[in-house]
Amino acid sequence: MPGNLTLNALRELVDAGTVDTVLVAAVDMQGRLMGKRFHAAFFLNGGYKETHCCNYLLAVDMEMTTVPGYKSAGWEQGYGDYMMKPDLDTMRLLPWLPGTALVLADLMDHSGAEDIAVSPRAILKRQVARAREMGFEPMMATELEFYIFENAYDDLRDGGLSRLKPISGYNEDYHIFQTTKEESVMRDVRNGLYAAGIPVENTKGEADAGQHEVNYRYSDALDTADNHIIVKQAVKDIAHAKGKSVTFMAKYDHRKAGSSSHVHQSLWTKDGKPVFYDHDDTHGMSETMKHFLAGQLAHAQEITAFLAPYVNSYKRFTIGMFAPTKAVWSADNRTAGFRVCGGHTKAVRVECRIPGSDVNPYLACAALLAAGLAGIEGKLELEAEMKGDMYSAKGIREIPHNLREAADLLNGSDMLRAAFGDDVVDHYTHAARWEIAETDRVVTDFELQRLLERA
Ligand code: ADP
Repeated sequence: MPGNLTLNALRELVDAGTVDTVLVAAVDMQGRLMGKRFHAAFFLNGGYKETHCCNYLLAVDMEMTTVPGYKSAGWEQGYGDYMMKPDLDTMRLLPWLPGTALVLADLMDHSGAEDIAVSPRAILKRQVARAREMGFEPMMATELEFYIFENAYDDLRDGGLSRLKPISGYNEDYHIFQTTKEESVMRDVRNGLYAAGIPVENTKGEADAGQHEVNYRYSDALDTADNHIIVKQAVKDIAHAKGKSVTFMAKYDHRKAGSSSHVHQSLWTKDGKPVFYDHDDTHGMSETMKHFLAGQLAHAQEITAFLAPYVNSYKRFTIGMFAPTKAVWSADNRTAGFRVCGGHTKAVRVECRIPGSDVNPYLACAALLAAGLAGIEGKLELEAEMKGDMYSAKGIREIPHNLREAADLLNGSDMLRAAFGDDVVDHYTHAARWEIAETDRVVTDFELQRLLERA
């Protein structure tokens, strides 16, 4: 379901005094919405055609540090502008922000002729185009988990992190009573998103205190990544308005369950027939699906930096907490990195369980798609299914243990270099290595507690 607001409909709402603000936002490397708040009159008066931003937006880290060493932008290149080109198909009202609409923008060169190669939305658009050239429509869904806390963000920032208090007192997986107590946030999330044109399926309590999941209906890959970003924004905006906070960190506490963003994937024909289904196969999987899954397994370790982009992301891959540790496949088995769901039905699909909720969905979907399409092109043979408890299985393909390993594997990936181009792979390898260097140099609370007195 794309955006639900046309330019003409926006004009009518502005004339009626219902809307006065339009957010024009692009997605950065971290998957954040970055942009400007337009007065709606200016937006309608030409702002909808293009605006501009500093090109450092695709060359900074979470702290907006001007990271040295990128080819695309830096002090040597003078930090010029990118064009932000609103994609009017994504325009919608944001009912949880008074009088406000949102439109997503593509980052382009000055003339607006070409997408910026390292822009996450452009990277996904290219893989979707590649799939379409092969005759496939990639359909995807991301299942987004997060924690809600009683504290407001400002309180946490002012030295309050030690008072971090999850909104509930116990594991609330599927609990109706506990989640009734949280409806002041989650009901507004469901209804707000639905009115914004996001096809929300449901929300549910998850497997630790304060943890939630929101599901929205699968759609074409670009639409799903757009939806994911807007869902994240809505959850943060709505929780903040209620004096609460949320986190999409993959692992905010080593004693608690991590938060994931499993990606469900299937390919369809242009006229809506499921390419993955074969009635006569044991699991109902077609040859094309088997090649696709084989490609994802063959390249799983190389694409992990796009599924787990921070040093923290790897702390989620622990035994016995429903996050995977092995990049193998199994039918309806939550201990495997790749779980085949909907077997024997037209909805047969691959669920990749490796991505955490800290993922940039454009990069994750693009990397998964690139690996799957490489499997189809190379007609890779699917390895035997693994069965049972993958946590205790030995000698099978592991998920990289940390970002250092994953960055080296990304850097050395011929598949990703062919699919994304060298500039993109070099850019994101550099981003990963910067994250490692930043984390390496900082002294943490853990080190102080362990060493201060006793070292
Ligand atoms: P789970 O067992 O993981 O809870 P669900 O039935 O809730 O599975 O489905 C998870 C997600 O999979 C939903 O967001 C749904 O829209 C999506 N989904 C269903 N069918 C397909 C499909 N054919 N291709 C891709 N995603 C799909």
